[in-house]
Amino acid sequence: MKAIVLGAGLMGVTTAYYLWREGHSVTVIDRNSEAASETSYANACLLSASRALPWPNPKSRSMIWRALTDRSAPMRITKLFDPLLWKWGGEFLSYANAKDYARLSGAKLRFAHFCSDELQKTIAETAISCGYQRDGLVYVCRSETSLAAARERASWVAKLGATLKVVDRAKAITLEPALADSDIVGASLAPRDGQGDSRVFTRELTKWLTERGVAFRFDETVEGIESVGSRVRAVKTDRDTYDADVVVAALGNGSVSFAQRIGQRMPIYPVKGFSLTVPVKDATRIPRRGGICEDSLIAYCPLDKGTKMRITTGAVFAGVEPGRSGRFTAADFAPHRANFEALFPNALAWDDVDNIEFWSCARPMTPSSLPILTAKGYDNLYWNCGQGHIGWTMSCGSARVISDLIAGRAPSFELADMQRVG
Ligand SMILES: Cc1cc2nc3c(=O)[nH]c(=O)nc-3n(C[C@H](O)[C@H](O)[C@H](O)COP(=O)(O)OP(=O)(O)OC[C@H]3O[C@@H](n4cnc5c(N)ncnc54)[C@H](O)[C@@H]3O)c2cc1C
Repeated sequence: MKAIVLGAGLMGVTTAYYLWREGHSVTVIDRNSEAASETSYANACLLSASRALPWPNPKSRSMIWRALTDRSAPMRITKLFDPLLWKWGGEFLSYANAKDYARLSGAKLRFAHFCSDELQKTIAETAISCGYQRDGLVYVCRSETSLAAARERASWVAKLGATLKVVDRAKAITLEPALADSDIVGASLAPRDGQGDSRVFTRELTKWLTERGVAFRFDETVEGIESVGSRVRAVKTDRDTYDADVVVAALGNGSVSFAQRIGQRMPIYPVKGFSLTVPVKDATRIPRRGGICEDSLIAYCPLDKGTKMRITTGAVFAGVEPGRSGRFTAADFAPHRANFEALFPNALAWDDVDNIEFWSCARPMTPSSLPILTAKGYDNLYWNCGQGHIGWTMSCGSARVISDLIAGRAPSFELADMQRVG
């Protein structure tokens, strides 16, 4: 079949891989000049299936006040009068109850673990080198409050079949010796989590697929479709028209406007985050693996054989911004430096400003925080989007499910609990 994949981020390129494996003739279209140029460009690089819990939860209502009033909170709402946010927020709050939290937690955690296994297989099959390792992540706690919350989370995920092992300060330092100069009180270890550079992975997979006959059309913007009855016949871009037997829309935040153009609604809101990549000054002082500080919610990951450190934080509801990456100011990056230094002092070359990379992009979040993996509106138009805060972890599993649906097979992952998405 002639398959057209819209978008060359993590979801689009992994979808192209799974469709190529099925023997389809695949073309991928993207408006940027390279793959992984938007949200997949500089995320935290953590494969953190153990943290695949839904954002709506019974405590969400109380968190909204802080998001509106505390300018230093990791989660902030800066554009309140936004019809898109009100609609999305209403749906989000409809899931913020104990029953839905339990149902969505089970579905999301199980799916994320399935996806992690699928990514591991893809890395093995393609031999792509992207700093991939799956030997656990350490989530550190600097207060008794966050350590108590880590214990609560560990017992919650254990009920759902995942493992998080809470350890005291001494044990955390044996796992991560560079934490010795920090004030941490303990940590939790997720032994099945991992890390890898998602931009390198996506771009290397693009090369790998190009060498095997997959066509990539860059610098081309998807504008719409031509349809006959309930089937898409072709995809229209600003430069060409592509005949299609099957179409997969993997447009990340761009899914919303594309859906509107073809008379559908995609319940995705862009939740902005800020990412820094800083050269390492003293390799003996950096962590061996990635992690998250449970108190400040900075995520960090050593990249490029430990020569650089990626640090990300922030979840800002700022509306849809013009342009393809988010706007930022120096103040948006103050939490990165202060909170990383508190954990790993004097490890990074903060003065080497010319080699520090600043970046901002938005997570394509659905209200339920489950991804959208479905055929919708047309018989042969599939959506693979809305993986939100955990799209690197979920990339290959999502693509595998889409390829199963297109083949008319029962999906490799039981989608029952994933179906009520939004
Ligand atoms: C700060 C931050 C940290 C994160 N950390 C992690 C992490 O540690 N682990 C994890 O698992 N996930 C993480 N994520 C989430 C992950 O990065 C995203 O879920 C993932 O990158 C989304 O991939 P995507 O392919 O859906 O979107 P994108 O990467 O944005 O790809 C969409 C593509 O569609 C193209 N496009 C859009 N509209 C059009 C159009 N009309 N025509 C042509 N092309 C179009 C764009 O050019 C883009 O290339 C993080 C996200 C952020 C923001």
